[in-house]
Amino acid sequence: MILSSPRRAIPITPHERLGLSTLEDISKLILKSHGLNETLTNIVRLVASRMHTEVCSIYLLEDARLTLRATIGLPIGLVGRTQMAVGEGLIGYTAETCAVVNVNEPQNHPRFHYIESSNEESYHSFLGIPLFDRQHLIGVMAIQTTEPRVFDPIEISTLSTIAFQLSSVVASARLLDKLERDQADSSTLSSGLPDVAEPKEIVSVIRGTSAFAGVAIGPAFLIDESIGCSDFTDDEPIDSQSEKDRLEDALEKSRIETLCLEKRLAERLSEEDAAIFHSHLMILQDRVFIDKLHAKINEGRSVVYAIKHVVEDYVRAFRRIDDAYLRERAVDMEDIGRRMLSQLLDRNREPIHLNQPCIVVAKELMPSDVAMLDHHQILGLVLESADSNSHAVIIAKSLGIPALIGAKGGLRHIEPGAPLILDANSGCLHVEPSEQVRREYQRLQADSLRQKEQLEQYKDRDAVTCDGVRVALRANVGLLSDIEIAHRCGAEGVGLYRTEFPYMARTDFPDRESQYEIYRRVVESFEGQSVTIRTLDIGGDKMLSYFDAPSEENPFLGWRSVRVSLDHLDIFRTQIEAILMASTHGNVKLMFPMITNMDEIIRCKELVAEAKQKLLAEGWSVPDVPLGVMVEVPAAISLADYFAREVDFFALGTNDLVQYMLAADRGNSRIQHYYDSLHPAVLHAIAHMVDVAKRHKKELCICGEMASDPACFALLVGLGLREFSVSSPAILPLKALLSKLSSCELEKLGKVLLSEPHGRRIRERVENMISQAESKFSSEA
Ligand code: PEP
Ligand code: MG
Repeated sequence: MILSSPRRAIPITPHERLGLSTLEDISKLILKSHGLNETLTNIVRLVASRMHTEVCSIYLLEDARLTLRATIGLPIGLVGRTQMAVGEGLIGYTAETCAVVNVNEPQNHPRFHYIESSNEESYHSFLGIPLFDRQHLIGVMAIQTTEPRVFDPIEISTLSTIAFQLSSVVASARLLDKLERDQADSSTLSSGLPDVAEPKEIVSVIRGTSAFAGVAIGPAFLIDESIGCSDFTDDEPIDSQSEKDRLEDALEKSRIETLCLEKRLAERLSEEDAAIFHSHLMILQDRVFIDKLHAKINEGRSVVYAIKHVVEDYVRAFRRIDDAYLRERAVDMEDIGRRMLSQLLDRNREPIHLNQPCIVVAKELMPSDVAMLDHHQILGLVLESADSNSHAVIIAKSLGIPALIGAKGGLRHIEPGAPLILDANSGCLHVEPSEQVRREYQRLQADSLRQKEQLEQYKDRDAVTCDGVRVALRANVGLLSDIEIAHRCGAEGVGLYRTEFPYMARTDFPDRESQYEIYRRVVESFEGQSVTIRTLDIGGDKMLSYFDAPSEENPFLGWRSVRVSLDHLDIFRTQIEAILMASTHGNVKLMFPMITNMDEIIRCKELVAEAKQKLLAEGWSVPDVPLGVMVEVPAAISLADYFAREVDFFALGTNDLVQYMLAADRGNSRIQHYYDSLHPAVLHAIAHMVDVAKRHKKELCICGEMASDPACFALLVGLGLREFSVSSPAILPLKALLSKLSSCELEKLGKVLLSEPHGRRIRERVENMISQAESKFSSEA
């Protein structure tokens, strides 16, 4: 008997509990499968157990033949060997008719075809379901039972729904499988490069802004065909109900595709890097988003029109937001819309395939493009878009790939495969460089490679001056992927863990459990070393998309940081509890940002005490966690003696301190020359903090960017600082520098320079000392 086509998913009622009724089931399935074969095996196992059948098999359509690719119940030796044509046997019949085939006593069916050594004679029922990826048949799933069994319409519709959902899992697994195989097979660049008919006008240097420093030399790989929503044309509506059904299909398949992308990126980088897809998933499930799509269809529009227009509305709204991070989330919306439309309109999803190390040049890369690229093959990244917070840039930073943004005209002026030199230190991309330029960069590259090798020797050494004074060099981290980089650079723990990122990568506040999980991973990966976790520091230049924050004239002087936390005690308490829970796994210090007065410190301490009580009542044995404050506003410098009575440690946040002391916005390039970390007023404030910390026997660490600057670092050691937290790549160069400097000399210089009123002269004097020390060191070596 042939039943109706299963292409349209029939909504599952509470009675139909057999199905994969939730995305959670699918997500579990995807998470526990690695590669196509394992995915298929997990699917057949799951379906057989849900449907209580002895056999479940999947045949995939490959080169016009249906090949058995996974089975539970049939002899495993048949997998990969049993093949049939479309139309051959009951499997082929299911494929031929593209409909469910439900047969009792299959041996009696005229289309039955016995597969040798399959034991099929023992089975008395057969249900075949075609699998589709969008409009294309990709295979057949079949279940069989030993007992005669008539599958009722509810079971069939349930199985159709399962097949519908699983088709997307199979299609995604197949796509990824193809991608892996292509990447393994290929060795020549030419095959991966698009053909070009017209030669382009060659420009020798393209300028942009450095998003991650470094130099890369290699051929260009152009990604020019990034399809956005506007590239799809509206189609005519058929009728509202069928448009809504198409919408449901597109949503469901896009959710599954999103889960697959998340998993792929999590495996290649980290879960935190992949969390962007988690927010895509939330949008694909978001009631408001779906209602808006329905409203457009109710107006008589097609589903394509609805997706295009609703997504474009969101994109426009995101682009209008002041906050740079949120503005750039418009790309995520575009990516979601593009994936939904590709699902609907059967657009070819051939993955972008890099087949040798190259410099990727694109207008803009969407998160799904980034997930599909083979990161090992990317030597450098050049984007025409100037979004410094785009997902592609975040990933480039995590991987340590030189990246240039705002490189206007990159695609117009570069031929595919053209030799490039990306100098992201100076913000230049050299296109088809002359022999002389190429030689110069090759020499620079060789130098920097040699330098890198020399720095490696410092990795397991203490950070110590040539006269034996030891300092601590810890890492500033934000993403979980920063942990690996911190270890590679020999960081002695974490001096600043910025907790904003886990909040920013989501569409709602992370709950206690998920925060705990993230913090625990950071803490556990620095066993035996301290990890200073800072509570949420939003506001100023970083807001959360889902948080209803006021728009302010002066956000840096407004509702930011601990002020927000203290006004939202539910959020604050949750975070403090999660941090205390993580403290049971290692050496955690808890730190509060932007403290300006005593009341804030006292209130924060009360909240910590309450959270601890609550956790003790829940059975947690929370240790005594050292509490500290960031010193990053001038008021904290003045009150430091009083603060010292309340806290266990201080952290100098000079990124903010400098901007507040000198009234110079840290992000405004026009007044950058006013933003001087070696301004005498800043140095006096730091010297005061060293004195306060010494008198009160409190720890003092500096975690602002200035500590990564060699001249600043040397002078800070001279002023008596002994604890530093810097971005990881700065650690080894600073250790190497320190080994050449004498603390006595630095301290003498520090004293002298505290009476120097000119910032410029201060820098000159320190830089002089450094170059003298370096030349003395190299003449002795
Ligand atoms: C600082 O202000 O120096 C600091 C480390 O904090 P952030 O850069 O996160 O504001
Ligand atoms: Mg700060």
